[in-house]
Amino acid sequence: MPSTLCKCGKEAFYFRRQSGEALCRRCFARSIERTVHRTVKREKLFTPDDRVMIALSGGKDSVALAHILSKIEKPYRTKLFALTIDEGVSGYREEGISITRGVAEALGMEHHIVTFKEEYGHSLEEVYALSREHGTGLLGCTFCGIMRRRLLNDMAIRLGATKVATGHNLDDEAQTFLINILRGDVARLGRAGVQPVKVREGFVPRVKPLRYIPEKEIAAYVYMKGYPLYERECPYVRDSVRDEVRDILNGIEERHPGTKHAIVNGSDKLMEALKPSTEAATVGTCSRCGSPSSRGVCRMCEVLDMLGLGSNTFINHLAE
Ligand code: SF4
Repeated sequence: MPSTLCKCGKEAFYFRRQSGEALCRRCFARSIERTVHRTVKREKLFTPDDRVMIALSGGKDSVALAHILSKIEKPYRTKLFALTIDEGVSGYREEGISITRGVAEALGMEHHIVTFKEEYGHSLEEVYALSREHGTGLLGCTFCGIMRRRLLNDMAIRLGATKVATGHNLDDEAQTFLINILRGDVARLGRAGVQPVKVREGFVPRVKPLRYIPEKEIAAYVYMKGYPLYERECPYVRDSVRDEVRDILNGIEERHPGTKHAIVNGSDKLMEALKPSTEAATVGTCSRCGSPSSRGVCRMCEVLDMLGLGSNTFINHLAE
């Protein structure tokens, strides 16, 4: 039976199964912030003059990231600002965007919102409709992921960011590790560590300060800080390998607390061993649009071909 009291004597708010600790609100929040701070310092995620762009979607992870980074980076010269991408999914994104506005305002953070429609000339809904017309058989998430990753990097360059911080948590990272194993994707395994890796020219390094914080703890933290939880489900979401892996991992974690931490810590060690070969293998640019890519033609240009849209349609928008 877990203790109902924190070690400081106050009533417990959260019970951490993997360590057996009962934590009051204050000790819980401090332990989360300390872990993120330690990750940032130990892994040297930021340098004093970094201009860090936080990918703020309005989901709990990105909200926690913005809140914690503004707190722990206060004493340093690191400049933080947020970018929100509106993919254009009506009835779903509006709430998230409104949360991002509230969060940025509460934190006094510079905030930019960009839309697929403005930047690419097509919203995700329009791209998905084109995809159906052309019978590509691809899911909305495939387009969304490719377009979002590209836009994140292009906006980081345009807005002068030296790093991009994303809200990937421990669960995401453990799932990604297993998915890469299941797919035999050694190159991605080597890029999955905590440290920013500049694998290609023109690619703004990404950092994941929440990499060691479990998803459940992030949800509890955001709730405790009084932010709204954005739980609406995107209409394009479909069963994916990630969902299956998530269920399996949650089942194992339930029976063997600490498994997700063990996977992520193990992946850090593996990444160190794979890093030199990964860096050497991934430098390159797309032969069509010139963007950083580990393939001859980048995934974005491949997808544009499938939709009957020339690269120029999108690239011109990005270059403006
Ligand atoms: Fe994009 Fe898929 Fe997420 Fe919807 S569920 S926002 S389509 S990645």
